[in-house]
Amino acid sequence: MIVKLKQEAAPETTEGIKLLLEERNIPYRMHRLYQKDVFTVMPGVEDAVIDILHNMSGIDEVVMTDIEYPLASRFYKDGNTTFCAGDNVVGGNAINIVAGPCSIESEEQIFGIAEFLKNSGVKFIRGGAFKPRTSPYRFQGLGLEGLKLIRAAADQFDLIVVTEVLDSSLIEQTYPYADILQVGSRNMQNFHFLKQLGKLDKPVLLKRGMSARVEEWLMAAEYILNEGNEKVILCERGIRSFDNLVRNTMDIASIPLLKNLSHLPVWADPSHGTGRRDLVTPVSMAAVAAGADGLIIEIHPDPDNALSDGAQSLKFEQFSALLLQLKNVASAINRGIDTQAPKQNKNLNLCVE
Ligand code: PEP
Ligand code: MN
Repeated sequence: MIVKLKQEAAPETTEGIKLLLEERNIPYRMHRLYQKDVFTVMPGVEDAVIDILHNMSGIDEVVMTDIEYPLASRFYKDGNTTFCAGDNVVGGNAINIVAGPCSIESEEQIFGIAEFLKNSGVKFIRGGAFKPRTSPYRFQGLGLEGLKLIRAAADQFDLIVVTEVLDSSLIEQTYPYADILQVGSRNMQNFHFLKQLGKLDKPVLLKRGMSARVEEWLMAAEYILNEGNEKVILCERGIRSFDNLVRNTMDIASIPLLKNLSHLPVWADPSHGTGRRDLVTPVSMAAVAAGADGLIIEIHPDPDNALSDGAQSLKFEQFSALLLQLKNVASAINRGIDTQAPKQNKNLNLCVE
Protein backbone atom coordinates (compact mmCIF):
# COMPACT_ATOMS: atom_id res chain seq x y z
CA MET A 1 0.00 0.00 0.00
CA ILE A 2 1.17 3.54 -0.76
CA VAL A 3 -0.19 6.49 1.21
CA LYS A 4 0.52 9.74 -0.61
CA LEU A 5 0.17 13.03 1.18
CA LYS A 6 -0.75 16.28 -0.50
CA GLN A 7 2.16 18.67 -1.02
CA GLU A 8 0.45 21.17 1.29
CA ALA A 9 -0.42 18.57 3.97
CA ALA A 10 0.23 19.77 7.52
CA PRO A 11 2.98 18.03 9.54
CA GLU A 12 0.18 16.78 11.84
CA THR A 13 -1.07 14.55 9.01
CA THR A 14 2.31 12.84 8.77
CA GLU A 15 2.45 12.46 12.55
CA GLY A 16 -1.15 11.16 12.64
CA ILE A 17 -0.36 8.42 10.13
CA LYS A 18 2.76 7.41 12.02
CA LEU A 19 0.75 7.12 15.21
CA LEU A 20 -2.02 5.12 13.55
CA LEU A 21 0.43 2.60 12.07
CA GLU A 22 2.63 2.36 15.14
CA GLU A 23 -0.32 1.82 17.50
CA ARG A 24 -1.32 -1.18 15.41
CA ASN A 25 2.24 -2.47 14.93
CA ILE A 26 2.04 -2.08 11.18
CA PRO A 27 5.54 -1.81 9.69
CA TYR A 28 6.00 1.18 7.36
CA ARG A 29 8.60 3.46 5.81
CA MET A 30 8.11 7.17 5.57
CA HIS A 31 9.78 9.02 2.73
CA ARG A 32 10.00 12.59 1.65
CA LEU A 33 10.40 12.35 -2.08
CA TYR A 34 9.69 14.86 -4.82
CA GLN A 35 8.55 17.42 -2.22
CA LYS A 36 5.83 15.21 -0.74
CA ASP A 37 5.59 12.82 2.20
CA VAL A 38 4.71 9.26 1.30
CA PHE A 39 4.32 6.10 3.36
CA THR A 40 4.97 2.63 2.01
CA VAL A 41 3.27 -0.16 3.94
CA MET A 42 3.47 -3.88 3.34
CA PRO A 43 0.27 -5.55 2.04
CA GLY A 44 -2.31 -7.03 4.41
CA VAL A 45 -3.49 -3.88 6.20
CA GLU A 46 -6.97 -4.24 7.73
CA ASP A 47 -9.88 -2.45 6.09
CA ALA A 48 -10.55 -0.43 9.25
CA VAL A 49 -7.12 1.23 9.00
CA ILE A 50 -7.62 1.93 5.32
CA ASP A 51 -10.95 3.59 6.09
CA ILE A 52 -9.33 5.84 8.69
CA LEU A 53 -6.62 6.82 6.21
CA HIS A 54 -9.17 7.61 3.54
CA ASN A 55 -10.93 9.98 5.90
CA MET A 56 -7.87 11.88 7.09
CA SER A 57 -7.35 15.37 5.69
CA GLY A 58 -4.13 16.06 3.83
CA ILE A 59 -4.12 12.67 2.16
CA ASP A 60 -3.84 12.75 -1.58
CA GLU A 61 -4.31 9.07 -2.35
CA VAL A 62 -4.22 5.62 -0.78
CA VAL A 63 -3.05 3.19 -3.45
CA MET A 64 -3.69 -0.47 -2.81
CA THR A 65 -0.90 -2.39 -4.47
CA ASP A 66 1.47 -5.13 -3.44
CA ILE A 67 4.03 -4.06 -6.04
CA GLU A 68 7.59 -4.56 -4.75
CA TYR A 69 8.89 -1.27 -6.16
CA PRO A 70 6.19 1.24 -5.13
CA LEU A 71 8.37 4.35 -5.11
CA ALA A 72 9.86 3.63 -8.53
CA SER A 73 6.48 2.76 -10.01
CA ARG A 74 3.81 4.72 -11.79
CA PHE A 75 1.55 4.01 -8.79
CA TYR A 76 3.65 6.56 -7.00
CA LYS A 77 3.84 9.14 -9.74
CA ASP A 78 2.09 9.63 -13.08
CA GLY A 79 4.36 12.32 -14.50
CA ASN A 80 7.98 11.80 -15.45
CA THR A 81 10.64 12.56 -12.88
CA THR A 82 13.13 15.25 -13.82
CA PHE A 83 16.00 16.62 -11.78
CA CYS A 84 19.09 18.73 -12.17
CA ALA A 85 22.62 17.58 -12.73
CA GLY A 86 24.58 20.81 -12.46
CA ASP A 87 22.68 23.22 -14.69
CA ASN A 88 21.17 20.49 -16.82
CA VAL A 89 17.76 18.88 -16.65
CA VAL A 90 17.84 15.08 -16.60
CA GLY A 91 14.72 13.32 -17.89
CA GLY A 92 13.22 16.36 -19.64
CA ASN A 93 12.06 16.63 -23.22
CA ALA A 94 15.60 17.21 -24.47
CA ILE A 95 17.51 13.94 -24.64
CA ASN A 96 20.71 14.00 -22.55
CA ILE A 97 23.89 13.04 -24.36
CA VAL A 98 26.83 11.69 -22.36
CA ALA A 99 30.04 10.72 -24.11
CA GLY A 100 33.63 9.97 -23.25
CA PRO A 101 36.12 7.17 -23.00
CA CYS A 102 35.59 3.84 -21.34
CA SER A 103 38.63 4.58 -19.15
CA ILE A 104 40.39 7.80 -18.33
CA GLU A 105 43.87 7.05 -19.67
CA SER A 106 45.91 10.24 -19.52
CA GLU A 107 45.68 14.02 -19.17
CA GLU A 108 46.07 14.45 -22.91
CA GLN A 109 43.34 11.92 -23.69
CA ILE A 110 40.69 13.25 -21.29
CA PHE A 111 41.33 16.95 -21.94
CA GLY A 112 41.24 16.31 -25.72
CA ILE A 113 37.91 14.50 -25.38
CA ALA A 114 36.49 17.20 -23.08
CA GLU A 115 37.41 19.94 -25.57
CA PHE A 116 35.86 17.98 -28.43
CA LEU A 117 32.65 17.47 -26.44
CA LYS A 118 32.42 21.12 -25.52
CA ASN A 119 32.83 22.12 -29.16
CA SER A 120 30.12 19.60 -30.07
CA GLY A 121 27.68 21.14 -27.57
CA VAL A 122 27.66 18.00 -25.40
CA LYS A 123 27.22 18.74 -21.70
CA PHE A 124 28.10 15.45 -19.98
CA ILE A 125 31.42 13.59 -20.01
CA ARG A 126 31.81 9.96 -18.96
CA GLY A 127 34.99 8.09 -18.05
CA GLY A 128 35.97 5.37 -15.62
CA ALA A 129 38.80 5.75 -13.12
CA PHE A 130 38.23 2.42 -11.36
CA LYS A 131 37.38 -0.18 -13.97
CA PRO A 132 35.49 -3.42 -13.33
CA ARG A 133 37.54 -5.55 -15.74
CA THR A 134 36.69 -9.20 -16.21
CA SER A 135 40.36 -10.14 -16.19
CA PRO A 136 42.55 -8.90 -13.32
CA TYR A 137 45.43 -8.58 -15.81
CA ARG A 138 43.68 -5.89 -17.87
CA PHE A 139 44.02 -2.13 -17.30
CA GLN A 140 42.26 -1.38 -14.02
CA GLY A 141 42.04 2.41 -14.44
CA LEU A 142 44.08 5.29 -13.10
CA GLY A 143 42.20 5.38 -9.79
CA LEU A 144 42.22 8.65 -7.87
CA GLU A 145 44.52 10.26 -10.44
CA GLY A 146 41.88 9.49 -13.09
CA LEU A 147 39.14 11.08 -11.00
CA LYS A 148 41.23 14.22 -10.60
CA LEU A 149 41.89 14.36 -14.33
CA ILE A 150 38.25 14.00 -15.41
CA ARG A 151 37.15 16.58 -12.84
CA ALA A 152 39.78 19.07 -14.02
CA ALA A 153 38.90 18.50 -17.69
CA ALA A 154 35.18 18.84 -16.96
CA ASP A 155 35.71 22.03 -14.97
CA GLN A 156 37.81 23.58 -17.72
CA PHE A 157 35.18 22.82 -20.37
CA ASP A 158 32.11 23.20 -18.19
CA LEU A 159 30.92 19.59 -18.37
CA ILE A 160 29.05 17.29 -15.98
CA VAL A 161 31.04 14.23 -14.83
CA VAL A 162 29.50 10.75 -14.96
CA THR A 163 31.82 8.16 -13.43
CA GLU A 164 31.48 4.75 -11.84
CA VAL A 165 31.72 4.19 -8.09
CA LEU A 166 33.19 0.73 -8.06
CA ASP A 167 32.20 -0.27 -4.56
CA SER A 168 31.24 0.89 -1.08
CA SER A 169 34.83 1.49 -0.06
CA LEU A 170 35.27 3.97 -2.92
CA ILE A 171 32.19 6.15 -2.36
CA GLU A 172 34.03 8.69 -0.25
CA GLN A 173 36.90 8.93 -2.69
CA THR A 174 34.72 9.19 -5.80
CA TYR A 175 31.95 11.45 -4.49
CA PRO A 176 33.77 14.82 -4.66
CA TYR A 177 34.84 14.30 -8.27
CA ALA A 178 31.54 13.02 -9.71
CA ASP A 179 28.31 14.82 -10.57
CA ILE A 180 26.47 11.60 -11.40
CA LEU A 181 27.48 8.38 -9.64
CA GLN A 182 27.38 5.39 -11.96
CA VAL A 183 26.54 1.95 -10.59
CA GLY A 184 27.96 -0.64 -12.94
CA SER A 185 26.11 -3.64 -14.27
CA ARG A 186 28.05 -5.95 -11.97
CA ASN A 187 26.83 -4.05 -8.91
CA MET A 188 23.15 -3.68 -9.69
CA GLN A 189 22.15 -6.08 -6.93
CA ASN A 190 24.76 -5.04 -4.39
CA PHE A 191 22.02 -3.97 -2.04
CA HIS A 192 24.13 -2.67 0.82
CA PHE A 193 25.98 -0.48 -1.66
CA LEU A 194 22.69 0.75 -3.16
CA LYS A 195 21.44 1.71 0.29
CA GLN A 196 24.57 3.77 0.86
CA LEU A 197 24.08 5.58 -2.44
CA GLY A 198 20.48 6.20 -1.43
CA LYS A 199 21.71 8.39 1.42
CA LEU A 200 23.61 10.72 -0.92
CA ASP A 201 22.40 13.87 -2.66
CA LYS A 202 23.86 13.23 -6.11
CA PRO A 203 22.08 11.46 -8.99
CA VAL A 204 22.74 7.74 -9.36
CA LEU A 205 22.96 6.14 -12.81
CA LEU A 206 21.83 2.57 -12.21
CA LYS A 207 22.95 0.29 -15.00
CA ARG A 208 21.00 -2.87 -15.65
CA GLY A 209 22.60 -6.03 -14.34
CA MET A 210 23.66 -8.12 -17.29
CA SER A 211 21.29 -10.90 -16.27
CA ALA A 212 18.69 -8.83 -14.45
CA ARG A 213 15.01 -8.88 -15.17
CA VAL A 214 13.31 -5.51 -15.49
CA GLU A 215 11.45 -6.05 -12.20
CA GLU A 216 14.70 -6.89 -10.38
CA TRP A 217 16.22 -3.73 -11.79
CA LEU A 218 13.27 -1.64 -10.56
CA MET A 219 13.62 -3.22 -7.11
CA ALA A 220 17.28 -2.21 -7.17
CA ALA A 221 16.19 1.36 -7.94
CA GLU A 222 13.74 1.06 -5.04
CA TYR A 223 16.64 0.41 -2.66
CA ILE A 224 18.07 3.82 -3.57
CA LEU A 225 14.72 5.68 -3.47
CA ASN A 226 13.82 3.99 -0.21
CA GLU A 227 16.77 5.68 1.48
CA GLY A 228 15.67 9.11 0.25
CA ASN A 229 17.68 9.70 -2.91
CA GLU A 230 15.08 10.57 -5.51
CA LYS A 231 17.58 11.14 -8.32
CA VAL A 232 17.82 7.76 -9.99
CA ILE A 233 18.43 7.16 -13.70
CA LEU A 234 17.91 3.67 -15.13
CA CYS A 235 20.34 2.71 -17.88
CA GLU A 236 19.78 -0.16 -20.31
CA ARG A 237 23.18 -1.56 -21.27
CA GLY A 238 22.33 -4.90 -22.81
CA ILE A 239 21.85 -8.33 -21.31
CA ARG A 240 23.83 -11.54 -21.68
CA SER A 241 22.36 -13.75 -24.37
CA PHE A 242 23.48 -16.59 -26.63
CA ASP A 243 24.68 -14.67 -29.65
CA ASN A 244 28.45 -14.47 -29.96
CA LEU A 245 28.60 -11.75 -32.62
CA VAL A 246 27.56 -9.08 -30.13
CA ARG A 247 28.95 -8.47 -26.65
CA ASN A 248 25.47 -8.12 -25.16
CA THR A 249 21.93 -8.13 -26.51
CA MET A 250 20.58 -4.60 -26.34
CA ASP A 251 17.07 -4.88 -24.94
CA ILE A 252 15.40 -2.01 -26.74
CA ALA A 253 11.96 -3.13 -25.53
CA SER A 254 12.99 -2.55 -21.92
CA ILE A 255 13.02 1.20 -22.64
CA PRO A 256 9.29 1.65 -23.38
CA LEU A 257 8.54 -1.05 -20.78
CA LEU A 258 10.33 0.98 -18.10
CA LYS A 259 8.61 4.15 -19.26
CA ASN A 260 5.27 2.35 -18.76
CA LEU A 261 6.17 0.98 -15.34
CA SER A 262 8.23 3.80 -13.86
CA HIS A 263 8.46 7.59 -13.69
CA LEU A 264 12.27 7.52 -13.56
CA PRO A 265 14.43 8.76 -16.44
CA VAL A 266 15.74 5.99 -18.70
CA TRP A 267 19.06 6.22 -20.49
CA ALA A 268 20.58 3.78 -22.95
CA ASP A 269 24.17 2.62 -23.42
CA PRO A 270 24.52 1.25 -26.95
CA SER A 271 28.30 0.89 -26.54
CA HIS A 272 28.17 -1.86 -23.91
CA GLY A 273 24.79 -2.94 -25.28
CA THR A 274 26.41 -4.09 -28.52
CA GLY A 275 30.18 -4.08 -28.02
CA ARG A 276 30.57 -3.11 -31.66
CA ARG A 277 31.36 0.32 -33.11
CA ASP A 278 29.39 -0.43 -36.29
CA LEU A 279 26.21 -1.01 -34.27
CA VAL A 280 26.44 1.97 -31.91
CA THR A 281 24.88 4.51 -34.31
CA PRO A 282 21.84 2.47 -35.42
CA VAL A 283 21.17 1.22 -31.88
CA SER A 284 21.47 4.76 -30.48
CA MET A 285 18.81 5.89 -32.92
CA ALA A 286 16.62 2.92 -32.05
CA ALA A 287 16.93 3.71 -28.33
CA VAL A 288 15.89 7.33 -28.86
CA ALA A 289 12.99 6.26 -31.08
CA ALA A 290 11.94 3.81 -28.33
CA GLY A 291 11.77 6.63 -25.77
CA ALA A 292 15.18 6.82 -24.10
CA ASP A 293 15.72 10.06 -22.19
CA GLY A 294 19.48 9.93 -22.63
CA LEU A 295 22.38 8.13 -24.27
CA ILE A 296 25.78 7.28 -22.83
CA ILE A 297 28.30 6.58 -25.55
CA GLU A 298 31.96 5.62 -25.52
CA ILE A 299 34.24 7.67 -27.76
CA HIS A 300 38.02 7.71 -28.14
CA PRO A 301 40.48 9.71 -30.25
CA ASP A 302 42.27 6.50 -31.23
CA PRO A 303 39.97 3.55 -30.46
CA ASP A 304 42.36 0.93 -31.84
CA ASN A 305 44.81 1.83 -29.09
CA ALA A 306 42.30 2.38 -26.28
CA LEU A 307 43.18 0.69 -22.98
CA SER A 308 39.63 -0.66 -22.68
CA ASP A 309 36.58 -1.14 -24.91
CA GLY A 310 38.17 0.27 -28.08
CA ALA A 311 36.09 -2.04 -30.28
CA GLN A 312 32.89 -0.32 -29.18
CA SER A 313 34.24 3.24 -29.00
CA LEU A 314 33.25 5.71 -31.71
CA LYS A 315 35.83 7.90 -33.41
CA PHE A 316 35.20 11.63 -33.04
CA GLU A 317 33.88 12.05 -36.59
CA GLN A 318 31.50 9.10 -36.15
CA PHE A 319 30.16 10.64 -32.96
CA SER A 320 29.62 14.01 -34.71
CA ALA A 321 27.71 12.27 -37.49
CA LEU A 322 25.64 10.40 -34.90
CA LEU A 323 24.63 13.67 -33.19
CA LEU A 324 23.25 14.98 -36.48
CA GLN A 325 21.26 11.81 -37.09
CA LEU A 326 19.94 11.81 -33.54
CA LYS A 327 18.51 15.30 -34.01
CA ASN A 328 16.33 13.97 -36.84
CA VAL A 329 15.15 10.96 -34.86
CA ALA A 330 14.38 13.13 -31.84
CA SER A 331 12.44 15.68 -33.84
CA ALA A 332 10.35 12.88 -35.37
CA ILE A 333 9.04 12.13 -31.86
CA ASN A 334 8.75 15.81 -30.88
CA ARG A 335 11.84 15.80 -28.74
CA GLY A 336 15.19 17.54 -28.95
CA ILE A 337 18.80 16.68 -28.22
CA ASP A 338 20.25 18.37 -25.14
CA THR A 339 23.22 19.99 -26.83
CA GLN A 340 24.01 23.65 -27.07
CA ALA A 341 26.19 25.99 -29.07
CA PRO A 342 29.54 26.27 -27.23
CA LYS A 343 29.47 30.00 -26.51
CA GLN A 344 25.91 30.25 -25.23
CA ASN A 345 25.53 32.14 -21.95
CA LYS A 346 25.63 29.45 -19.29
CA ASN A 347 23.40 31.43 -16.94
CA LEU A 348 20.47 31.16 -19.33
CA ASN A 349 20.35 27.44 -18.71
CA LEU A 350 20.09 27.31 -14.94
CA CYS A 351 18.19 24.25 -13.88
CA VAL A 352 15.62 24.78 -11.12
CA GLU A 353 14.29 21.87 -9.05
C1 PEP B 1 31.23 1.28 -18.27
O1 PEP B 1 30.30 2.08 -18.43
O2 PEP B 1 32.40 1.53 -18.58
C2 PEP B 1 30.92 -0.08 -17.78
C3 PEP B 1 31.87 -0.84 -17.23
O3 PEP B 1 29.65 -0.42 -17.95
P1 PEP B 1 28.82 -1.71 -17.44
O4 PEP B 1 28.82 -1.65 -15.97
O5 PEP B 1 27.47 -1.48 -18.07
O6 PEP B 1 29.51 -2.92 -18.00
MN1 MN C 1 33.47 0.42 -21.20
